[in-house]
Amino acid sequence: MCIFDNSEYDNHEQVLFCRDEDAGLFAIIAIHDTTLGPAAGGCRMWSYVSIEDAVTDVLRLAQAMSYKNALADLPLGGGKSVIIGDPNKDKNEKLLIAFARFVQRLGGQYYTAEDVGIGINDVEVLSQASDYVFGLVTTGDPSPFTARGCFEGIRAAVKNKLGRDHLKGLKVAVQGVGNVGRYVCKYLHEAGAKLIVADVKAESATYAVENFEAKAVTPHKIYAQDVDIFSPCAMGGILNDDTIPQLKASIVAGAANNQLAEARHGRLIHNKGILYAPDYVINAGGMLNASGDIFGKYDVTQVMERVTGLYDATLRIFEVAEQENRPTNEVADDLARQKIEAGKALKKS
Ligand code: NAD
Repeated sequence: MCIFDNSEYDNHEQVLFCRDEDAGLFAIIAIHDTTLGPAAGGCRMWSYVSIEDAVTDVLRLAQAMSYKNALADLPLGGGKSVIIGDPNKDKNEKLLIAFARFVQRLGGQYYTAEDVGIGINDVEVLSQASDYVFGLVTTGDPSPFTARGCFEGIRAAVKNKLGRDHLKGLKVAVQGVGNVGRYVCKYLHEAGAKLIVADVKAESATYAVENFEAKAVTPHKIYAQDVDIFSPCAMGGILNDDTIPQLKASIVAGAANNQLAEARHGRLIHNKGILYAPDYVINAGGMLNASGDIFGKYDVTQVMERVTGLYDATLRIFEVAEQENRPTNEVADDLARQKIEAGKALKKS
C-alpha cells in the first residue's frame, strides 16, 4: 500500500525508512510537523506483525507528538520512530548505533528518546552516535513526571464530572502497573483513592497490592470493574468496540499513548456519558521534563509547575467540550491544530 493512502497519514512532512542489513536494522522515522520546532518523540521497539502495522503505528504516534508538544506549549514539533523487532531478543548495541546514525543524518530535524522497548540505557547508547537524543541522565526517568501529569488530569476530570476537589474514597481501576502506572497508583493511594489493578505481569500487579492496598484482577476483567475512574497505563488501542460497552466508570483518564483505537471511539465514549481526558494532554509530563535536554537548560521546579499546570489545561478542554457538546478528543485535536496553524501563519508573516 502507498503510504499516502494509509488511514493515519496526516500530511506528515517526512517518513524515512531506515535499513542497515549488517546491523539487522529495520526502522521507520516519521516527522509529522516541524512548524513549532524540531520534531521530538521517542523510539519504540516492537515485534510488529507487518510493515504496514509499523507504518500505521509510527504515523499515529508522530501526529500525537505534534499535538502533545503544541498543547504543552513546547517549541517542538512532532515525530516518532519505530524499530521493528523484539526488544528482548533483537536489541543490541550495533543495532541501536545503526539507528542513531539515521537520526544524526537528519541533522536535528528529529530528536529521539525512550519509548516502549527502548529504555534509558538504550538512550545512552543512541547518544554515542547522535547529538539529537533526549531524556538522558540530566533529566532522569520521565515516568514520575508523566504520572504526576496524569494524576493532575484525573483530578481535573473528577472536578468536572463529579464536582469534587479530592479523590478520597473514589474507586480507580488502573490498567498496567509499569514505570508510569506504579507512580499513578502511588499518587492515587496517597490521595485516598481505592485501587483495583491489572497487569499481564503478575509481579507488577502484586507490587501495587503490597504497596498501595490495591486489589488485583486478571487483565481482561479490568474494563468492567465497578469504579469511578478507569486509568489506562499500559498499551494503546484499548478503548475500542469491545471494551467501551464494558466500562462502568464515568471517567477515563490514564497515561497510555493512543488509547482510542480510532478517533470515532472518542464519540462513542462521549455518547455513553463518560468523560475522557485526552491521553496526549495528560501524559505530557514526561515530555515537559525530558525536553530540558533539547533546550540545554533544566530546572526541576519549573518543570513541576508546568506539570501541575496540566490540571488547568485539561479543565479548559472539558469546558470547551461541554459548551460545544463535543467529544473531548476532538476538542483537543482542534486546539492543537489551531496552535500549529497559528505558528504557520506567523512564519509566513
Ligand atoms: P511499561 O512497559 O513500563 O509499563 C506498561 C505495563 O503495562 C507493564 O507492566 C506491562 O506488563 C503492562 N501491560 C501490558 N499490556 C497489558 C495489558 N493488556 N493489560 C494489563 N497490563 C498490561 O511502560 P510505561 O513507561 O509505564 O508506559 C505506559 C504507557 O504510558 C505506554 O502507553 C507509554 O507509551 C505511555 N507513556 C509513557 C511515558 C513515560 O514517561 N514512560 C510518557 C508518555 C506516555
